[in-house]
Amino acid sequence: MSAPKKGDLSSSEKELFEVITAGNVQEASRLLGCKDVRVNCLDEYGMTPLMHAAYKGKADMCKLLLQHGADVNCNEHEHGYTALMFAGLSGKTDITWMMLDAGAETDVVNSVGRTAAQMAAFVGQHDCVTVINNFFSRARLDYYTKAQGLEKEPKLPPKLAGPLHKVIMSTNLNPVKMVMLVKENPLLAEVEALDKCRRVMELICEKCIKQQDMNEVLAMKMHYISCLLGKCASFLKDREDKLDGLIKSLLKGRDCDGFPVYQEKFIRECIRKFPYCDATLLQQLVRSIAPVEIGNDPTALSVLTQAITGQVGFMDAEFCTSCGEKGAEKRCSICKMVIYCGQACQKMHWFTHKKVCKKLQEQRETHEAESAKLRTQQSKEESDAVQEATDSIQELSVETNSEAAPSETSNPAPIAAADN
Ligand SMILES: [Zn+2]
Ligand SMILES: [Zn+2]
Repeated sequence: MSAPKKGDLSSSEKELFEVITAGNVQEASRLLGCKDVRVNCLDEYGMTPLMHAAYKGKADMCKLLLQHGADVNCNEHEHGYTALMFAGLSGKTDITWMMLDAGAETDVVNSVGRTAAQMAAFVGQHDCVTVINNFFSRARLDYYTKAQGLEKEPKLPPKLAGPLHKVIMSTNLNPVKMVMLVKENPLLAEVEALDKCRRVMELICEKCIKQQDMNEVLAMKMHYISCLLGKCASFLKDREDKLDGLIKSLLKGRDCDGFPVYQEKFIRECIRKFPYCDATLLQQLVRSIAPVEIGNDPTALSVLTQAITGQVGFMDAEFCTSCGEKGAEKRCSICKMVIYCGQACQKMHWFTHKKVCKKLQEQRETHEAESAKLRTQQSKEESDAVQEATDSIQELSVETNSEAAPSETSNPAPIAAADN
């Protein structure tokens, strides 16, 4: 079969494009079995069937095409769009993920120099941006599970690849959540294992910086994870309460307002210790964080999260106060000022929250009373204003009347004049 030319389609291939638009997976599967159908054929704009399926947001269709050998990095589109770019534009995170998992290059640019992540950001598909920026394939990690060159054993024991990959793929960078991920896996929650994982993280970090298409975002994430794993190891070594002790330290709020100072300092220190001082991302982060007094916004976590995942407005009320998971909706019943993803997180936080809960409750009540007072004041002012307006309208109508009926008002005037 010859290399596909733009718009040079057999009748079955034309049918395939139609079937993709209609979303008929069964029919597409039948057509892909035909001799005169090439999975990477090109329509007149240089779009492959996979690009169409990705753009239309049809996940099952994408899966089918990939199974039939669709080229995820085909770059024949007239404006240089790739399947990953179309996936990002569609706003479907599952399809974006599928393209990445199939080996889509993230650094390819279109005809105006934009990457897939930049294009997705441009049209407001921020969840897809997050997926692209944080993607690190299992295959890239598995490389370290095989002994290289003269090594007697691999840098990463194969059994650790799964749990470590889970930590790497987390888009929630809250250190409490990450320690919880370590803690839940007994293979990982062990000093020697953590040291090995840490070394691999630093190697990947270095690779991200030194490779031709430098990826500072991923490098920073790897470095951050490495710091966290190091912290886990040191608590496992030195503390009787082990990782629970670390979680407690990270959650502990200061007395005056409950702000978690240890956590803030830990994240700031991680960023500062990033080994590649020339990195633009490092300089940006330091510029954003350095002038902020501890306890004020933005927190180091929110700045780091925004830089790495592209998430904006991280401190919205819908994130769990303890672990930072999205979609939290259980409020503290006393102060109603903090929100959790579940009872476990609320229990975990209570040892420190109880010191400020009452104060927060009072603050909320004062605030509510004040705004209620303000509301009554406002409505009084409003009714006063309405009264004034009514009065002036009446005056106006009196004047209008006086103009309309000069004879009536002209009567009292002479009397007044006479009185004088
Ligand atoms: Zn939580
Ligand atoms: Zn409370």
